[in-house]
Amino acid sequence: MPRIAPATLTDIAAAILGRAAKDDETGRRVATRLVGANLAGHDSHGVGMIPRYVEGIAAGELDPAARARIVTDRAAAIQVDGNRGFGQIVAEEAMEMAIERARASGFALLALKNAFHIGRIGDWGEMAAGAGFISIHYVNVLSPTAHVAPFGGSDARFSTNPYCTAIPATAKTPMVLLDMATSTIAHGKARVAHLSGKPAPAGSLIDHRGQPTTDPAVLFDEPKGALTAFGAHKGAGLALLCDLLGGSLAGGGAFLPERVAEGRILNGMLAMIIDPDLFGGADAFFADVDAYADWVRASPAAVGTEGVRLPGDPERAAREARASGIEIDDGTWGQLRETAASLGLDAGILAEG
Ligand code: NAD
Repeated sequence: MPRIAPATLTDIAAAILGRAAKDDETGRRVATRLVGANLAGHDSHGVGMIPRYVEGIAAGELDPAARARIVTDRAAAIQVDGNRGFGQIVAEEAMEMAIERARASGFALLALKNAFHIGRIGDWGEMAAGAGFISIHYVNVLSPTAHVAPFGGSDARFSTNPYCTAIPATAKTPMVLLDMATSTIAHGKARVAHLSGKPAPAGSLIDHRGQPTTDPAVLFDEPKGALTAFGAHKGAGLALLCDLLGGSLAGGGAFLPERVAEGRILNGMLAMIIDPDLFGGADAFFADVDAYADWVRASPAAVGTEGVRLPGDPERAAREARASGIEIDDGTWGQLRETAASLGLDAGILAEG
């Protein structure tokens, strides 16, 4: 398993993406975001996505030259069309526009539609929180296959619809960032279990009759079962809202069969960007964040755990641990090699493996 310095990994990713996009600057911007996801500990949304992006370009589903454009403009609310551009670029552009509105109005509502995969949603929460704003994100996914069953159902009706909320850091408390898929486990995790002949975690899967199972084959062999949403009816309800708000309201539409296609991973996002001083109480708000974070962290560690962490702590720890090198699993490395070769790139760029 190669362990690669982040800067080298970014160069490799940028070379592949730049070639596929026929634009080096675009390639580097996307590569930097993907390696950022690896650094944050979320390999599912890191450089392993590159083959799917290259497929998306080949299928005509991802337009690397597309940029974000406002299509509806109503004071603090904007609807932005991502025009099937790289999500890492059009979501950043859309967030910049929304943050500018929030600076002017104290609040902004962003509806982003038709963005190709926008990656780690935490990036967009961090971008708003880094600029001093609270942000809340409901995101839906239009990918070729549904993976997650509604509560009480027996087959998949939606994707892993992520949800995110970010609270800016104070001088004492680091940024609070809850950034999560609404499925119990990622689809990629079940794929790894399947390939290695291991069971999936209890509660994460159902078979085609809706019965709980730990056999990951139910996701790959007919008749297919599905992933469960986290937290029974509650997580399934949140996933549903991600489709209705991030999809139907934002304009790209909820997950329906007629909206899916090979090579397509479109994200829709409804984001609320809030100035913590909107009601004139930013000082009190941040004082409360500090006091409350202390109170929560002071809960004694449960037996067999490392104790309380706040959302965002695991990503900070991963960045520290991975700053000097990121391990890329052999399967992902092999796919990157194949993708590079398919674009006529010299295999030497992946020599590390
Ligand atoms: P996860 O389960 O690793 O973590 C989810 C959240 O829980 C994070 O905010 C993390 O800080 C927090 N957390 C983890 N362990 C914790 C602990 N012990 N104590 C307190 N908080 C803790 O993440 P996931 O659900 O597998 O999602 C992974 C990534 O996938 C996310 O970045 C998400 O945005 C992304 N995603 C993207 C899409 C898309 O279509 N673009 C779809 C699904 C998921």
